[in-house]
Amino acid sequence: MIPRRAPLTRSRKPIARSPIRHKKRERRESWRNPGRVREDAAGIAELRLTVFMRSFFRAGHKPGYHRCENKMESGKRCRSRITWTWFEMHHLGPACERSDVPEKVMACCAGCHADNHRGTWKASRWDA
Ligand SMILES: [Zn+2]
Ligand SMILES: [Zn+2]
Repeated sequence: MIPRRAPLTRSRKPIARSPIRHKKRERRESWRNPGRVREDAAGIAELRLTVFMRSFFRAGHKPGYHRCENKMESGKRCRSRITWTWFEMHHLGPACERSDVPEKVMACCAGCHADNHRGTWKASRWDA
């Protein structure tokens, strides 16, 4: 009598995979150079608020507004108005030193931010 072959158990369906979930960004502080911080999502949200409030500008009796913090090539502060939904945060200094602290971040209008990353102009904050 010929033994029956073991039934094929492998299904024709492709292997079911769970979707790749990226690890959540955690708050970290550099042990090598303290003061260098990497914030988690909640920390970034708070930083964004801090930076946005700092960008508020008011002169004389005119109503104030939130203003781009980029220093232009002329040495003056950019005159663009920014809003909560229309501003970008730019990290100052070299990428290896980037830190999620208000001193190392500035609020930018989209135009300045693009210029800063095009590398034509070394970015700095207007008051720095
Ligand atoms: Zn940037
Ligand atoms: Zn600007």
